[in-house]
Amino acid sequence: MISVEEALEKVLNYVEVLEPEPKPILDCLGQVLAEDVYSDIDIPPLDNSAMDGYALRARDTLRASELSPQYLVVIGEVAAGYLSTKKVSPGTAIRIMTGAPLPEGADAVVRFEDTDEVNRKSSGGGLSQIGILCEAKRGLNVRVRGEDIARGDLILKKWKVLRPQEIGVLASLGRSIVLVVRRPVVAILATGDELIAVDQQLASGKIYDSNTYTIAAEVSRYGGIPKILGIGRDSVQSLTEKLDEGLDADMLVTSGGVSKGDYDVVKDVLAERGEIGFWTVCMKPGKPLAFGLMKKIEGGREKRVPHLGLPGNPVSSMITFEQFARPAILKMLGKKILAKPTIRAIIENAILNTDGRRMFARVSVAKCGGQYHASVTGPQGSGILTSMTKANGLAVIPEGSKGVKSGDIVEVQMLDWSEELQ
Ligand code: AMP
Ligand code: MG
Repeated sequence: MISVEEALEKVLNYVEVLEPEPKPILDCLGQVLAEDVYSDIDIPPLDNSAMDGYALRARDTLRASELSPQYLVVIGEVAAGYLSTKKVSPGTAIRIMTGAPLPEGADAVVRFEDTDEVNRKSSGGGLSQIGILCEAKRGLNVRVRGEDIARGDLILKKWKVLRPQEIGVLASLGRSIVLVVRRPVVAILATGDELIAVDQQLASGKIYDSNTYTIAAEVSRYGGIPKILGIGRDSVQSLTEKLDEGLDADMLVTSGGVSKGDYDVVKDVLAERGEIGFWTVCMKPGKPLAFGLMKKIEGGREKRVPHLGLPGNPVSSMITFEQFARPAILKMLGKKILAKPTIRAIIENAILNTDGRRMFARVSVAKCGGQYHASVTGPQGSGILTSMTKANGLAVIPEGSKGVKSGDIVEVQMLDWSEELQ
């Protein structure tokens, strides 16, 4: 039996960061930048006003106060998006809106609140003159050209994961398309004679195939593109045919057929068609796991597709997906942080570890009095998928331990990291 870490290392050794592709920026959320992005413009492009107010010469406001305003002649107005045709000369000011370029000759902006504009308006006076009620320093309320981004600067480094703010910065640079690491296509195949597709009539002795849907949703959630192959039956021929359709993907994920039963033929197909790595992993649920490379001859060359064979039980397949397929997808996407976020929590229930494997117990975590508390979400059978719907984390009970008692501190791998939990 190998450890979870050893199994993960083997899986990660088989997958590579995928090649870059150019994409429109709005389609790149969560993807990894595959180029250094430099700016060929200044942002802001010109000195401009940070406030609605009056653009003026700071020295014209010397000793101005509420009791002794300095009066300036208003020679024009400028709004955002326009250049002033007039120049501020001694004793004059130009009414200016936020974001408007600073007129020539001006070196400061005094906001409306620090002028007598409101009084003038309410007393029916015009705005041909304005009283300035405070002394302005040079540069007051002026956003300087290039203060955010200077032309030629390296703005975003290769390998950066693109969040909404990076996408906004790209737009502000005028970049509508960037190079990002391509998303992996993950082919998904459920196996089992007992499985019925979700849109078919259920028959006696059969069950609906849920793994395809859990796995496809997981693939999308972590940034891959799911390619659903459907249901393979428990024969080498059926599985081989189905898997052939998935060999143009970047990774194959199957569920079921990897235990020791007579009809567990996934490993036979891997042994015949590929290079097999079949292990029992020291974890619960999810002990049997197959991993290898499926081979295909394409244009006279051998192509190898990594294949992860997950156990069939719905909880086992989801938990093994989280431990092994998720990091593989993230690595292919060019991401550097492959581990799930973990926290330490007080466990509310005793958990027995009967056979010494690393246990992943489904728990619901809540924060209470500054501490995280985790409670087990009911029966832990590996076929009970509803236990996952009630869980937001997996409590990790270390291998070799006898379990934990209520009140112990446990490490919890968070399935979801919601804002309420921070
Ligand atoms: P296996 O690993 O093929 O022996 O399957 C273990 C258990 O998981 C059996 O009870 C299967 O019926 C169930 N199972 C396998 N595949 C699926 C699936 N795609 N959806 C739901 N249950 C499944
Ligand atoms: Mg089966």
